[in-house]
Amino acid sequence: MSLLVVGSVAFDAIETPFGKVDRTLGGAASYFALAASHFVPVRMVAIVGEDFSDKDRAVFKGRKIDLSGLEHAAGKSFFWSGRYSQNMNERTTLATELNVFAEFKPTLPDTYLDTKHVFLGNIQPGLQQSVLHQLNGKPRIVGLDTMNYWIEGSNAQLRETLKHVDILTINDDETRQLTGEHNLIRASRHVFKLGPKILIIKRGEHGALMVHPKFIFSVPAFPLEQVHDPTGAGDTFAGGFMGYLAKAGSMNEQNLRRAMVYGSVLASFTVEKFGVERLAKVTRREIDQRARKFAKLTAFKL
Ligand code: AMP
Repeated sequence: MSLLVVGSVAFDAIETPFGKVDRTLGGAASYFALAASHFVPVRMVAIVGEDFSDKDRAVFKGRKIDLSGLEHAAGKSFFWSGRYSQNMNERTTLATELNVFAEFKPTLPDTYLDTKHVFLGNIQPGLQQSVLHQLNGKPRIVGLDTMNYWIEGSNAQLRETLKHVDILTINDDETRQLTGEHNLIRASRHVFKLGPKILIIKRGEHGALMVHPKFIFSVPAFPLEQVHDPTGAGDTFAGGFMGYLAKAGSMNEQNLRRAMVYGSVLASFTVEKFGVERLAKVTRREIDQRARKFAKLTAFKL
């Protein structure tokens, strides 16, 4: 029932209207693993440098997160820095220092090879595909995240990788860029021809939209009084979504709808504080409480 994630483990410097941190643990795989581990054991594949300390490792401790695929290399960990606009709808990347991430060639430990649920976080599409090739047998569910950089720069490889993907999670601009279609519903039909059976469009403060060939489902972002830092919300959403789905075991309509809600619930905790601070502390009880509030928030009778 394990869920494998490949992606970045990073140190981030973040500036929002609510404050600033110079160095906090981040990276897509960190957010994803912390969120998903509430539902299933997570197997992480990532790379860090010598600056990744025992204190950083401790963030993942006491949870069902297997770090035997976390490679330690000479040099510095991936570093990313970003600044949010006043309304937090826009983000400017100030620095991307790949460091050890530049040489990252994901290698799966033998104990990971039987994994049946996989999330290919936002890395070079050829490397995403290499993870699938290493696995023994075909996984049951494969999710993939990507970004404008790879849609533009590694388009052919991305299209090749997408042939093996069930669920694509990207934002609206990326959906338009990948398909050349402005209308998101028409764009989703284009995505289905590329391989994925389900498209999840992440829309920040507007929530997320799931397009399946037979139905469409939309979840809002949970309304919060305080949003301090949106960093990692998308990766947390993916972790909650994939974690719930891996636990549920099948991609039927009800499971997919509930997975969307858990993705949105987990993301709502992440944005309450900087970096992974809130996410690393949230309990399953708090998650379920908020999921119940979510059901009330969106319920109505016709
Ligand atoms: P999100 O807010 O969902 O876009 O995720 C932010 C996280 O992604 C941060 O913790 C960064 O360390 C990480 N990140 C930023 N740029 C990249 C990149 N080019 N490749 C992989 N991870 C990245």
